[in-house]
Amino acid sequence: MIKDLLPRQVVCTEKDPKGKSCHGGLKRYHPFASYYNEPDPVLLGEIKQEFPEDEKLILLKCETCQTVYRLPEVLKEKFQQVG
Ligand SMILES: [Zn+2]
Repeated sequence: MIKDLLPRQVVCTEKDPKGKSCHGGLKRYHPFASYYNEPDPVLLGEIKQEFPEDEKLILLKCETCQTVYRLPEVLKEKFQQVG
């Protein structure tokens, strides 16, 4: 699943079937980089449908439930300047 990161969001807001928020930590994630290929083919397919296969593509991924988040434009620029 791919969700939009909300302004100032720092933890995962995905809810479990009981309605409890995940609150997992979000890590920077490069789905197409050679050192970090996405192991889940379903999720990778979903990412490929939406984004070009650029190894510099940066998304965020929840460490707990593996939900992927799109970066807002502002944050995207900030991350690309850093690295
Ligand atoms: Zn999560």
